[in-house]
Amino acid sequence: MRGVLVCPSMDTKVDQASMRQWAAVAAIAAAAAVALGSASPRALQTTSAPATRTVLVKAAQIIDGRGGAPLRNGAVLIRGDRIERIGPAAGMTADRTIDLGSATVLPGLIDLHTHLTDEVGTNWESALLTTTPGRAAIYGAVNARTTLMAGFTTARDMGPTWPYTDIDLRYAIDKGSVPGPRLQVAGNYVSATGGAGDARQFSIYVDVPIVRNLADGVDEVRRVTRTNLKNGADFIKILATGAVMSKGIPPGAQQYSDAELAVAVEEATRWGKFVAAHAHGAEGIKAAVRAGVRTIDHGSMLDEEGARLMKEKGTFFAPTLYVGHAILNDNQTLNIPAYQVEREKAMQGTQEKAFALAMAHHLPIAFATDAGVFPHGENAREFKIRVGLGQSPMAAIEGATRIAAEAMGWSDRVGTLQAGRFADLIAVDKDPLADISELERVQFVMKGGLVHKTK
Ligand SMILES: [Zn+2]
Repeated sequence: MRGVLVCPSMDTKVDQASMRQWAAVAAIAAAAAVALGSASPRALQTTSAPATRTVLVKAAQIIDGRGGAPLRNGAVLIRGDRIERIGPAAGMTADRTIDLGSATVLPGLIDLHTHLTDEVGTNWESALLTTTPGRAAIYGAVNARTTLMAGFTTARDMGPTWPYTDIDLRYAIDKGSVPGPRLQVAGNYVSATGGAGDARQFSIYVDVPIVRNLADGVDEVRRVTRTNLKNGADFIKILATGAVMSKGIPPGAQQYSDAELAVAVEEATRWGKFVAAHAHGAEGIKAAVRAGVRTIDHGSMLDEEGARLMKEKGTFFAPTLYVGHAILNDNQTLNIPAYQVEREKAMQGTQEKAFALAMAHHLPIAFATDAGVFPHGENAREFKIRVGLGQSPMAAIEGATRIAAEAMGWSDRVGTLQAGRFADLIAVDKDPLADISELERVQFVMKGGLVHKTK
């Protein structure tokens, strides 16, 4: 991601030419901010609001992410980048008041499963053969902004096609150079040869040596786990089973042995990090849960025994339901190969059953989408599918707020509107509890006390 421009820090001596270059970038950013209706160009360059300033956000209804009854005529008092207080609006004052009228305010949404540096519609094998990490960097910046503007102020990146480009994207966002969600990133897939994350599905005579993500056997899994964490990964993404979106071992099959899964968790735990398991098949799900992973992503063929096991171990369930619809209905425009569509068809119905089982067992169901397979910014379409399958709108919202934050180990900073958390909040015009699809039309986005989107 070397292509992303960053502001030279004030304590560094910079030459005239680079200052001029930065001034030009700032001017473009300012113009873009005006064109896009952002509150100020500053919002594109800064991560948080000044600590001395207070802002009051008022609205007819506030949902705090904890699942309780919404607060009527409430307000959120913000100081700098943090929430100071939330309560009835009457009597609360601040330096600046943002009155959102009849809107509903919610915590910034969280998507546990995105692929931000992937260009939608580009098959990963052709990306490896015909593009450079520079393209991933540029699309990563564009997709991060799109995702933020859709109301997602926090996300996990579940692995880029070009390894570690997500780490550079996180850096640029944290520095305030690129607007985007707060990120936890995987850095690189941990996959077995011929498994779901084996991106190099070429002739045996063709290789892309820079993409060395494969690990076979306990020692190699330990090594790549360490390599990813050494290079800045926030968590480990392991491919426990085959996938829909790649060749090789089928989605229903367990691709890593119990011992290989266990060593990834053992090693990540030493580093104080979690493991997220991509898992479709029932046996692979159970093996990953037994190994102690934090989240089961997709979980398409979860069975009764697996659900019981997840409950027992406190594993988070992160199904991705909308993406299946996108693969089946929009495969032409999304440029999804026929064999992948066939793989998805074979799992039709099992995902709905798995979701019902997860609800019946009261598993913590977190919000996840696989955005990147379908266009970034359409993440919120997942809500409607979940509610259609019987989840209450409030439970679906909790999945994208409190529960997702817990799954990330970030309950102390995001996911709920409570004192001390980051001032990450969004607003929608109509009541999302009456029509969950309202979350597809987010009108206001604040991250770290800074307004990124307003009407
Ligand atoms: Zn994925």
